[in-house]
Amino acid sequence: MLQIWSSARYVFPLPDSHRFPIAKYELLRQRVIADGIVTAEQVHEPARANPLDLRRVHEADYIDRLTTGRLTPDELRKLGFPWSPALVERSYRAVGGTCEAAAASLEHGIAMNLAGGTHHAFADHGEGFCVFNDVAIAVRMLQARGRIRRATIVDLDVHQGNGTNAIFAGDDSVFTFSMHGGRNYPFHKVPGDVDVELDDGTGDDLYLALLAEHLPRVLARSAPDLVVYLAGADAHERDRLGRLRLTFDGLARRDAMVLGFCREVGTPVVVTIAGGYGQDIADTVAIHATTARISASFAATAEGTPLVR
Ligand SMILES: [Zn+2]
Repeated sequence: MLQIWSSARYVFPLPDSHRFPIAKYELLRQRVIADGIVTAEQVHEPARANPLDLRRVHEADYIDRLTTGRLTPDELRKLGFPWSPALVERSYRAVGGTCEAAAASLEHGIAMNLAGGTHHAFADHGEGFCVFNDVAIAVRMLQARGRIRRATIVDLDVHQGNGTNAIFAGDDSVFTFSMHGGRNYPFHKVPGDVDVELDDGTGDDLYLALLAEHLPRVLARSAPDLVVYLAGADAHERDRLGRLRLTFDGLARRDAMVLGFCREVGTPVVVTIAGGYGQDIADTVAIHATTARISASFAATAEGTPLVR
């Protein structure tokens, strides 16, 4: 059974005019239960991330100033959020959710955080709505505890994970694979191990063909003990920021393909939702909920039959 981490604290107050769809976290949390994807008992409240775990990735000064509300106006502009105690609480809880889900995935084969994938956070600063790099923190935590040696990041958010790539640059134990809009944010890309740049308007067929071409090679080459999957919803055709043209069906096939390839090589997967900025927030929630549904079917199939291909 799929174990999920989510919290009412993932939502924090933003001005009405703010373009970040903060409500999606609560809508998604309600949706996965209402749709019967998981029961309420399968949804766990994450603890706040341990500061020691944060410090394996982030500079102490940044953690400190973020936590106590001492970021500069420039830093806040880059981050894209106004500071509040609720933002801090959410940031610690969201990292906690990815850390707990990552640990659980090693037991169950798959687990999910209904947040996370904040891949634009660097060691010393946040940007693009990303405060802490939950993915890097979870990987380093499991490495420090001796639970894993190697990890592979499969980042299918439409934006490149510049922060993640910078954090793991020169670290041979973590392989970074990304497919993203070549002309989209961030405009200064930080090279990862394998970067597949997509043209604006890329649709299902080409996208899935590229994924099918690259991902098996990535997994064979990196031989990870854990895959961290960033299942961004922002590659959808009606996303405000994505510029790609994937359909609901294409995104579902993407998720099933990622989980299927990981299962073929027997690697546990922790799923994070990453970005999603639908013109209609219901589209974004539906895409993330489908990722949860497909993850739940993988958790339920003991024999490891790949789903859609
Ligand atoms: Zn994104």
